Amino acid sequence: VNAMAPKPASTDHQPARDEALLGVLAPSLYADHVKVYPRSVQGRFRTIKWAVLSLCLVVYYSLPWLRWDRGAGAPDQALLLDMSGPRGYFFNIEIWPQEVYYITGLLILGALALFLATALFGRVWCGYTCPQTVWTDLFLAVERWIEGDRNARMRLDAQPVSAAKVLRKVAKHAVWLLIAAATGGAWIMYFVDAPTVTREIVTGGASLATYFFFGLFTLTTYVLAGWAREQVCTYMCPWPRFQAAMQDEHSLIVTYQSWRGEARGKHKAGESWEGRGDCIDCQACVHVCPTGIDIRNGPQLECIGCALCIDACDEMMGKVGRPQRLIDFVSLANLERRAQKLPTLLKLLRARTLLYGFLLVVVAGIMTVALMLRSEIGFSVQQDRSPLHVVLSDGTIRNGYVIKVSNKTRAPMQLRLNAEGLPEADLFMAGEPGRHVALDLTVEPDEIGEYHVFVRAPRRPGDGLINMDFVLRNGAGMEVDRLRTQFSMPK
Ligand code: SF4
Ligand code: SF4
Repeated sequence: VNAMAPKPASTDHQPARDEALLGVLAPSLYADHVKVYPRSVQGRFRTIKWAVLSLCLVVYYSLPWLRWDRGAGAPDQALLLDMSGPRGYFFNIEIWPQEVYYITGLLILGALALFLATALFGRVWCGYTCPQTVWTDLFLAVERWIEGDRNARMRLDAQPVSAAKVLRKVAKHAVWLLIAAATGGAWIMYFVDAPTVTREIVTGGASLATYFFFGLFTLTTYVLAGWAREQVCTYMCPWPRFQAAMQDEHSLIVTYQSWRGEARGKHKAGESWEGRGDCIDCQACVHVCPTGIDIRNGPQLECIGCALCIDACDEMMGKVGRPQRLIDFVSLANLERRAQKLPTLLKLLRARTLLYGFLLVVVAGIMTVALMLRSEIGFSVQQDRSPLHVVLSDGTIRNGYVIKVSNKTRAPMQLRLNAEGLPEADLFMAGEPGRHVALDLTVEPDEIGEYHVFVRAPRRPGDGLINMDFVLRNGAGMEVDRLRTQFSMPK
């Protein structure tokens, strides 16, 4: 606005005043990126983090290679979302496209589990199991291995370009790209047979689409885990923005106990601790933080709850002979109680945790029952709309229906179809002669049989629409499915 306005007669102080005014009216929305150099740390939470990271990576990379015998002609991959099929294979469960609600159910279960974990333990998902955290941690480990720990990396980045520097950087990015390619490749293996697609990619025989997605997932892994890192959590991820809605004062979060730490200050060996806090202002908690924040400033959106600052501070407290857990996994309610020297309370059962737990059990129960009652036959009927009925030369009325029967088993199915609720009705298949009380249908394994069936019945003036059932029976004559439809009579 100031730049477009006509310039007033300038005075010595005018530009400075204009800048100050502009700063107040339109503060900059842009902040320069400050590179974070997390230092390595040892401790209980780091050990847990390594264990979770290893487990996640082993599961992710190895799952597509797990085989599962489904008989001849069926994919033998335990976990496969076959887009060409299209089918979803989850061990001995097969999901057809029309049963995609099972996937929806799984996503709802995942969301509820995340809500419950957040209400109980804060951002434990972000700090330990989120793919962004896992791969960033892995990429950081590679960086540390090649370029050294925090101080060595900062020195290297500040150095002018040299052969040694270029060599280290090239080596780091080469390893990052290898990991990214393995990650992108593994992602594709969840959608196509793992051994086949690996062979095709290596020998150059894969489709263009496979190479495109392989390249896309490799690039995104490399950029997000290698370059963007904590910026994904701070700027891109929506979860930190609304996860606070799942928390309350009893949720465990990583917190600096200011009542114990302040007044902070440097401490020399042998000096008294009287009249001061336990924080020796060593910055160790800041230096190990993967998002580069200072937890002593209170709970922050950038904090992913990894608890590495607890390990770093515990180490320092051990060195200066003060009690550990100056930074702790503690609820805000207990922080208050500790400050008042009151015993702490562990309140896991609260309205929100009970609600999330209850919903979790309900959805899991519905999904289990739905899976147990799942039919191996899919059956649908659609009445011809144009025309609704045809008056035949002998005066009888004919209606047409498109009937689809899906066979979700690995063996051919022999079925019998008849119509009930319409006296003296007979059936026949389009293009086939004869009139029948019932029709024999053969549905091939893992196929959908589609049939154009006509039903013929004597005219009943004034009836309009008559309710009628199509009934499917198996070879033993047992009813396997029934669908209500209507037979249209001319009025
Ligand atoms: S402040 Fe602590 S818990 Fe939060 S991200 Fe940094 S190191 Fe992890
Ligand atoms: S690591 Fe502990 S002692 Fe050091 S600055 Fe952080 S809170 Fe203070």
